[in-house]
Amino acid sequence: MDRAVVLERSRAQLPLLKVNPGALVEVVVAPVGPAWFTTHWLGRRQVLCAGDEGACLACGSYPPRVVGFVLACAVVAGKRRVFLLEVSPSSWSRFEMGLCWESVADGQWVRANLTRPRLRAPLRIEVVCGGTSPLDGYEPSERTLVNAVAVLYGLPLMTCTESLQDWESGVQPMLEELVSRALAKVEA
Ligand SMILES: [Zn+2]
Repeated sequence: MDRAVVLERSRAQLPLLKVNPGALVEVVVAPVGPAWFTTHWLGRRQVLCAGDEGACLACGSYPPRVVGFVLACAVVAGKRRVFLLEVSPSSWSRFEMGLCWESVADGQWVRANLTRPRLRAPLRIEVVCGGTSPLDGYEPSERTLVNAVAVLYGLPLMTCTESLQDWESGVQPMLEELVSRALAKVEA
């Protein structure tokens, strides 16, 4: 990887926000996403599904699981920053109901409280109210979100001229390769 690519990837990288059982994490959720992906657990690793139609070698033996990613701002260790937050379809649909109840307009940032009833249980995202970006002038795009996920899973970044569909078809052969490598490891 050349230096420019390494730099761009380190700029796109975001830490995953952890929510442990018993903790309450106050966040402000950005109005982009979720970006949804199908994954498989292979041993202790989560890999992205390489798609149906026989392209994904894991699909037959490992149940698919849908995960979503959003961007959320939180204060951790005294510092306010942006995190990648993993959500499940059920926790996200409850969050969306909360948006209706609280009459939060589309396109707003949303103050919310995150809790997890127990380990590995879906996240609870309780809507507090709508708001604005907590980081001065920071308004992430879909590409900000997709690229943070791309770094997480070791995929190339989406360029500014690509659409999400272009990016998805571009990374397809790589997904197949990553799945077969992960399968080889787990079945060795
Ligand atoms: Zn699959």
